[in-house]
Amino acid sequence: MRVLVVEDDADLNRQIAAALKEAGYAVDTAGDGEEGHFLGDTEPYDAVILDIGLPIMDGISVLEKWRRDGRTMPVLILTARDRWSDKVQGIDAGADDYVAKPFHIEEVLARVRALVRRAAGHASNEVECGPVRLDSRSGRVSVDGNPVKLTSHEYRVLEYLMVHRDRVVSRTELIEHLYDQDFDRDSNTIEVFIGRLRKKLAVDLIETVRGLGYRVVEPGHAS
Ligand code: CA
Repeated sequence: MRVLVVEDDADLNRQIAAALKEAGYAVDTAGDGEEGHFLGDTEPYDAVILDIGLPIMDGISVLEKWRRDGRTMPVLILTARDRWSDKVQGIDAGADDYVAKPFHIEEVLARVRALVRRAAGHASNEVECGPVRLDSRSGRVSVDGNPVKLTSHEYRVLEYLMVHRDRVVSRTELIEHLYDQDFDRDSNTIEVFIGRLRKKLAVDLIETVRGLGYRVVEPGHAS
């Protein structure tokens, strides 16, 4: 999952981005509203963390512009603690949730998790597919109840495919949602991760749809 952080306080931006990366997200950052708007307009994000008080273009204007242009990704706004009007304006502008500053980073992570899973139509942090269970809160994966050790890159690929199960996900979509903008998009690493996942999971979970991409289907129900 790929997240954009738009925050002009450089320390706070770094802190949020580091926590998200630690939690397994690919992260892009912007320090002003104009750059933030551009990234959100041109890159596919699974969630955006957007500060309201930003230089060049304020957060409310950024959000209004995205929504007017049909950008529907989930947006969590960061508001000043005592500015209730920010929250009302932000939600009216199309925010999906808010966190008031100062906040505990764990609260931001929990809200981002909830936004991402709701956007994909899941009510809980756990996704199950046959014997495979993935918990996006703990980052744990098990097959028939036995824990499977995955690297963070393998986990990202599996999480994206499982959250979007029963649908074909192209290699381009995986790359766009799993890596930040500096990633070398010509690489063949996705195939490598898929190969390793198949070996580690040892069940027919990930189907290759020739010429289109990959699909997670319940083992035994492959079409
Ligand atoms: Ca600010």
